[in-house]
Amino acid sequence: MSQGEELVQCPCGRIIRSVDDYKVMFIKKEMLEIDILCPNDSCYLRELGFIKFRMEGDKAKFEKAVFYPPFVTWNASQMGHEKAERILKEHLKKLVLERIDWEWVAREVLKAREQEEKAEG
Ligand SMILES: [Zn+2]
Repeated sequence: MSQGEELVQCPCGRIIRSVDDYKVMFIKKEMLEIDILCPNDSCYLRELGFIKFRMEGDKAKFEKAVFYPPFVTWNASQMGHEKAERILKEHLKKLVLERIDWEWVAREVLKAREQEEKAEG
């Protein structure tokens, strides 16, 4: 299997060669959601998917990871539904296991909650 077979593409044209190419940003802290973004800064889609988790005590527990339909549909139209699904599933798995520092995420949530409590007085 050649390496080229595992490429996916954002509808904006940007090729994503590996999970390292995605931008992962943790902005929606109170929603316990991590955004998966296109590496192209001028991408019109920007958000390709998200990773959802829950808090159990002071630990972050992974719940689900999803790519949004425009990204999935685009790749399915390029390489076929089955192949796109397989590669994108693999990418989500790697994003969750390799790109996210779950201890850091949990700390950020706790920090945000603390600040919220302070703001409320
Ligand atoms: Zn893009």
